[in-house]
Parts: sequence; C-alpha cells; structure tokens
Amino acid sequence: MKLCMIGTGYVGLVSGVCFSDLGNDVICVDKNKNKINLLQNGQVPIYEPGLSELVIKNFRNKRLSFSSDLKSSVKNSDIIFICVGTPTKKDGSSADLSQIYNVTKEISSSINKFKIIITKSTVPVTTGDQIEKILSKRNNKNKFAVVSNPEFLREGEAIRDFIYPDRIVVGSNEKKTNRVLKNLYSPLISKGAKYLNTSRRAAELIKYASNAFLATKITFINEIANLCEKTGINVEDISIGMGLDKRIGSRFLRAGPAYGGSCFPKDTKAIISTAEKFNINLSVIKSVIRSNKNRSNILLKKIYEILKNKVKNKKITFLGVTFKANTDDMRDSSSLLMIPALSKKGATIKYYDPTGHKKEFKNIKNVYFEESIKKSIKDSDLIIIHTEWNDFKSINFKNLIKGKKPIIYDMRNIYSNFKINSQGFKYFSVGK
Ligand code: NAD
Repeated sequence: MKLCMIGTGYVGLVSGVCFSDLGNDVICVDKNKNKINLLQNGQVPIYEPGLSELVIKNFRNKRLSFSSDLKSSVKNSDIIFICVGTPTKKDGSSADLSQIYNVTKEISSSINKFKIIITKSTVPVTTGDQIEKILSKRNNKNKFAVVSNPEFLREGEAIRDFIYPDRIVVGSNEKKTNRVLKNLYSPLISKGAKYLNTSRRAAELIKYASNAFLATKITFINEIANLCEKTGINVEDISIGMGLDKRIGSRFLRAGPAYGGSCFPKDTKAIISTAEKFNINLSVIKSVIRSNKNRSNILLKKIYEILKNKVKNKKITFLGVTFKANTDDMRDSSSLLMIPALSKKGATIKYYDPTGHKKEFKNIKNVYFEESIKKSIKDSDLIIIHTEWNDFKSINFKNLIKGKKPIIYDMRNIYSNFKINSQGFKYFSVGK
C-alpha cells in the first residue's frame, strides 16, 4: 500500500515520517514549494524533537519522498491522508474548511483506481459527508471510501505520541476499509494502542470533544489557581489531590498561562459553531473560551501589581514565547497578547526562546530577541518564565545575574519560592 500525506505540516509530516519508519512507502505533498525543497534537501521546516533524524533516515531508505505535485502523488497512492489546516474562519467562530475542500476537488480528478481518502485534519461533524458528495460528482462510489481518522499527537511529543497513542480512532462503516486501516496501524496496536472503529461522524466528534474537554481541564485549574492565590493555598496541592482520583486524573491540571496553540483555541470555537448549526448550546465550552480569554488579562494584571503599576521604561524578560515547550509553534500563544500589551505600556521586552527569533514580534515596539538566557536577563527588572522549556528548569540566577536583582515571575511553577528567595530574588508563581 502506498500512502500519500497531503499537507506537510506538524501533523502530515510527523505522521508521514512515522508511517514510513514503520515500513510503508510514503509521499508527503505540500503546495508550499519552499517546504518541499527544504525537505528534499534533508532540512525540516518545523521544530519537533527527533523528527529531523527520522526524515533523513527514511528519505535515504527511499521509503519517504516529497512532492508538490498533488495529482500525480494521489494517482500513485492507495491511501490518501488529508492533513491540511482547518483554522478559524475570519468571522472568528467556525472552522475554515476551504483547504479541505480544495484538496478534495484536486483528489477528485485524480482517482484512477480505488482510493481510501482519510481526514487526519480536525474537521467538524459531517465534513466527511461533504467530501463524499464532492468526490461522487466525478467518481463512482465504488472507486473510493471516505474515512475519518483524527490525529491526537501533541506538538513537542509528536513522534512518541504517534508511535504510542492511547487510541487510534477510525470512523468508517465499511468492513474492507476498516480492515486495511487496522492492518496499517497493526504495528502500533501490537504496542498497546487501542483501536476504536466508529461511525465517521462519531470519529469527527471524538476529536473535538476531546480537545474541548482538555481545554476545560486547563481552564478549570487556572480558575482554581485564582482562588488559591486569595486563600493562601498552593494550587499544586489541589492538582495532586484531585489528580489522585482516577475519575479525574492528574494530567492537564497544571495552572499556568492561558491555553494556546494550533488546536484548543480553534477547536473549542469550531465545536460550538457546529453545535449551533444543530441548535445545541454548548454552554460549558463557551464559558471555557471566555475564561481562557480573560486568563492573559489576569496574568497581565498580576505583572502590573508586581511592578507596582510602574511599567513604563521597565525592562522585562520573557523566557520562552511559544505556547508550550518543545515546539516552535506560536499560534495563539499567550505571549502574543502579553508582550504587545507590555510594550504598549512603555516597557522594553527582551525574549529568549530555544527556537529562536519570532516574526510575530517584528513590528512591536521595543521587543528584542536575545541569543541566550544570559543576554536576555541582563539588566532586567522582571523575568517572566512563560514557557516550560527544560532549558529554564535549572537556571542558576545567582551566578548569571551580577548587580541589580530582578523579580522573577514563574508562570509555570518550575521553581519553589524557597529556592529562589534563598538566592536573594523576589519570586512570584501561579496559584500560590
Ligand atoms: P499546518 O498548518 O502546520 O500544516 C498544514 C499544511 O497543509 C501546510 O504546510 C500547507 O501548506 C499545506 N496545504 C494547505 N493546502 C494545501 C493544498 N491544497 N495542497 C497541499 N498542501 C496544502 O497544520 P497542522 O498543525 O499540521 O494541522 C493540520 C490539521 O491537523 C489541522 O486540522 C489541525 O487541527 C489538526 N491537528 C493538529 C495538531 C497539531 O498539534 N498541530 C494535532 C492534531 C490535529
């Protein structure tokens, strides 16, 4: 079976590379020729730990190739994974499915033999029905099967998540197609992944419901953290105490900045919009979005309090600006709200991120990228630990900082009050 991944972004590239590493013949397609050129020269356009090595290994083994010619790649493949973006529409609510439908139209004119066409992109309920409708205009229904196989990998842990997923969800009612996919995933199933075969619509909804639930967990503990700050309680005790209950579980119960990234913000909005089409009010998810939107304001207010409302001319350092560690992804990162707000108030911001300079801050006044932690914290009044990179977990502030002692605001609760206070620094964290 030959596989074709359409869209060579975080999901398409990682899953394509992993499928090839499992012994499949995979072609990764992208309309962005620049990306394809880089990949053909052994360079990986995104930051994802371990990805580069796997790309090079499988490219050399000739199991993995790259192309910007969608039609011929589809013609030469049996299983087509659609992995293009499904961002929020300009109206700010529903998912923009134009990339999905553009790709579908191109696939439609390239069906030369039976193809299994799979949405790995996160798509609203009934998108599979629409894809089927588009393909049926030109092709006989026995020439293709449309399946939903949502992807649950996390950026920064993507390869591990792909190879050891908790579950593989395949939405298809067709026995033969289901057999082919179960066979494709058999190396992962034999490593312990649960294989769940559902209806196509159910698979589409499982993905959105999962992301909305995880976003709810984060938002829930962030609000509890606010209460902890007022009542002299350590939110970490609450997280542990709650998490030990197997019905709740400890993951995604760590207080910190607003959730961001390429999935939770857009998927929470999209599921609400889908539900509204069916006259269903997802009020819990609506309040999660509201609360998360307000989260950056709450943290900003705390920064102003720490600086005694004297933000003008203050030198502020951001350690990490991506929405989470081990990724270069800036989509909906809370730093995109906080840094411009502080700049507007007259602060100078220096930031260091292990994935380098960010174009998002190019036009923001007095925001500068520094090449090292040391340079970024030099002469700082306030150091904000924004992203939980390992690089920031054992900084010896005492050794690095000579002279004026900055305040440290640890938004990820990496350090302890005791540890930092004993080095002579004022320390603030979240939910304590
Ligand atoms: P991305 O933006 O990183 O990549 C999408 C790629 O598709 C881009 O490289 C783009 O050039 C390409 N593309 C768009 N139209 C094309 C076309 N007509 N032909 C060929 N290529 C085309 O997106 P992503 O983060 O990989 O997400 C893709 C999908 O997977 C989304 O629906 C997302 O919600 C879902 N998802 C993402 C993650 C994640 O962690 N990023 C996890 C699970 C699911």
